[in-house]
Amino acid sequence: MSETTDTQQYSFKAETKQLLNILIHSLYKDREVFLRELLSNASDALNRLRFEMVTNRDVLDPNAELTIHITADKEARTLVIQDTGLGMTRDEVIENLGTIAQSGARKFLELTKEQKGDFSQVIGQFGVGFYSVFMVAEWVRVTSRSFRKDAEAVTWYATGEDNYQIGPADKSERGTRIEIKLKEGAAEFAEEFRLKNIIHKHSDYIGFPIFIGEDKTAVNKQTSLWRTSKQEVTEEQYKEFYRQTTLDFEDPLLHVHMSTDAPVQLYALLYISSKAERSMFSLRKDDGLKLYTRNILIDEYNKDLLPEYLRFVQGVVDSEDLPLNVSRETVQSSGLMPKLKKVLTNQVMRELENLAKNNAEKYETFWKEFGVYLKQGIAATPAEADTINPLLRFKTNLNPETWSSLADYVSRMKEGQKEIYYIVGEDPKSVLRSPHLDYFHSQGTEVLLLTDPMDSFMLMGLHKYKDFDLKNVAQAEVDTKEKPKDQPEAEKIPDADFNSLVETFKKVLGERVTDVRASNRLYQSVARLADADANANPELQRVYKYLGKEYEIPKKVLELNASHTILKDLLKLESNSELQNIIIEQIYDSALLVEGIHPDPSSMAPRVQQIIEAALKQKQ
Ligand code: ADP
Ligand code: MG
Repeated sequence: MSETTDTQQYSFKAETKQLLNILIHSLYKDREVFLRELLSNASDALNRLRFEMVTNRDVLDPNAELTIHITADKEARTLVIQDTGLGMTRDEVIENLGTIAQSGARKFLELTKEQKGDFSQVIGQFGVGFYSVFMVAEWVRVTSRSFRKDAEAVTWYATGEDNYQIGPADKSERGTRIEIKLKEGAAEFAEEFRLKNIIHKHSDYIGFPIFIGEDKTAVNKQTSLWRTSKQEVTEEQYKEFYRQTTLDFEDPLLHVHMSTDAPVQLYALLYISSKAERSMFSLRKDDGLKLYTRNILIDEYNKDLLPEYLRFVQGVVDSEDLPLNVSRETVQSSGLMPKLKKVLTNQVMRELENLAKNNAEKYETFWKEFGVYLKQGIAATPAEADTINPLLRFKTNLNPETWSSLADYVSRMKEGQKEIYYIVGEDPKSVLRSPHLDYFHSQGTEVLLLTDPMDSFMLMGLHKYKDFDLKNVAQAEVDTKEKPKDQPEAEKIPDADFNSLVETFKKVLGERVTDVRASNRLYQSVARLADADANANPELQRVYKYLGKEYEIPKKVLELNASHTILKDLLKLESNSELQNIIIEQIYDSALLVEGIHPDPSSMAPRVQQIIEAALKQKQ
């Protein structure tokens, strides 16, 4: 059998057939994108060849110019696109244009079923861009010769029906030639001015010259979008680039386009998406930025260019300072990376601060989606806290509906206030009922409400803002000499009675509390749990709970409000009666609950029922 000299027929796989069927009969408006797809393939092939030649000069036609040539014949309705890229062997042609498209075809079909729209725009992202040519072609012939010297030229021919043919070809130079017979309704794509237009619109950035016909000057600008000066890029181009590279159909929240020469040379085009969660069709499989050196992609997901807490940022970084023959390993060890990282981090943080200043609404979206990353950043790298601090946003007891920055808080601080107060709890509503807030409410003092699980982690790295220490209200020293003005002074339980009540509490709660005593800072609440040790770290206790570590309720001091009517009524009950005991139990459990450290809240249900029964009996 002379497999390589005869023409053979192969059948496309099922999903590819379906895809072709859709494309052939499609009414997609954007048929012109087929040209972008073919040019992008040619450019890929040229790029890969250039990459190969960094280490291997033993290729076919080592001195051939790296170019793309287009010829069009209006009369014959043909279009030919030729490149001097790395070409394909027979097996590669079968694989690349016949077999491996399967999964991409399936995903593209899913997308077209799931959402309405013109998806020819993004077909390239599914690894099936080549087939878009069948939107305009009656037939296509691909002739290719690999850069490998011993490979023979090969030709592939298809009409978009179920089969394609492979056979030997006459082609002595390296690269790929794609001949297209245009459909009758697609003759426009054999007009040079039309082709030029399409190239300007979609392919200006291809890094190799594209020539049309006999023209000796390249049609395309040959510079990537990120290397183009900001003034020349339109908002729409930024969006299209984002759509193309991420397959996210929603506009990005922010783009950062920069170029610097010192201390390092770099171009960068970075994006922050409008959602933290990746969509089902997202192209992004990992965190990281695309790293190029002189337009050549050397790393697709580079994680050393930004700190972890900015890992949601996506985009491209291109630096001339990286040596051309870098491998992924040497990139890591090159001293350049920390410099690039510093420049990029500063810029992203600055742009976020600007966004906060200039567009509060957008910043709020950003904060809701990505704030948790920044909090985590403070937890993981406390040294960066000062950099991240200005971007933090909080709800507070006095402004529970809006987001305040630490600067906002400080600007509203009362005269003489020396600390920034916060309270940690489970959710923004219940935390407002915490007994720890009694005193602060009575004074009209503002308190940050930290109710996101990540907040406890953040607090491990956030101790200070400017000159102000952050202080948990549960532990804050309060000046109780200053009585609240609008609070009527309630009468206290006489000392002797109060002491006996304390003894009863101690007996009922036993080992569970380290002490029971009168509080000097409760107004509306009956009781509060305080740390026995002033240096205790309630955040850490919470962190353990979130991490699912073996968790024991920390023993605390139960402080009682000696003026509260509940305690006055409790004294009226028969001492040591069952009802008195279960109410004491419940006061303790409720305190654990508002503290957010109750290990098993549903265990309270039977007791609450007993209390309800007792209350109803009273009424009868
Ligand atoms: P993708 O470019 O996303 O891989 P395409 O459907 O556009 O998907 O192309 C399929 C494959 O065919 C490419 O990955 C490449 O291996 C091969 N190919 C297409 N055009 C060329 C070309 N001009 N030169 C070399 N290989 C090519
Ligand atoms: Mg492609």
